[in-house]
Amino acid sequence: MTKGWAGNREHRYYFFLNKYDDIAFTRCPQCNRKTTKERMFCLIIHVDPKNLFSFNKSCRFCADCGLIIVKKTELENYLADICEKHYPDILGNDYLALGTINRALHRKVKQGNLDANTIIQCFIPFIGHKIFETCGGWQPDKFSMGV
Ligand SMILES: [Zn+2]
Repeated sequence: MTKGWAGNREHRYYFFLNKYDDIAFTRCPQCNRKTTKERMFCLIIHVDPKNLFSFNKSCRFCADCGLIIVKKTELENYLADICEKHYPDILGNDYLALGTINRALHRKVKQGNLDANTIIQCFIPFIGHKIFETCGGWQPDKFSMGV
């Protein structure tokens, strides 16, 4: 699957979609230390059946773990907003955060100067998605996302 993938693949991260509106994760759920900081990432989001969006987003980020934390509500609000305006037929469809792209490419996506194939070749896929539940303490649970 790596054949033909270009671009800088060095900075690869884990992704955690935070479903808790009232928890900001100032303490990293992975290493349990107060290491998370706000940082901007350009996230590539796939929405069924085949739409790609680039979302420049301030995320919680633990540099030690390479873990990006995004609030589910904020991501879904963004998708709902853009779909309502431009792609009403895919509003409410399943979505998946695939990875990140650098800022220069993000700008080209925003300007409509980057086709889907190029985005797929240039984005940096997440190493994997993580899920942390709050019941009974933090319980990291990894599963592969198959990229
Ligand atoms: Zn951490």
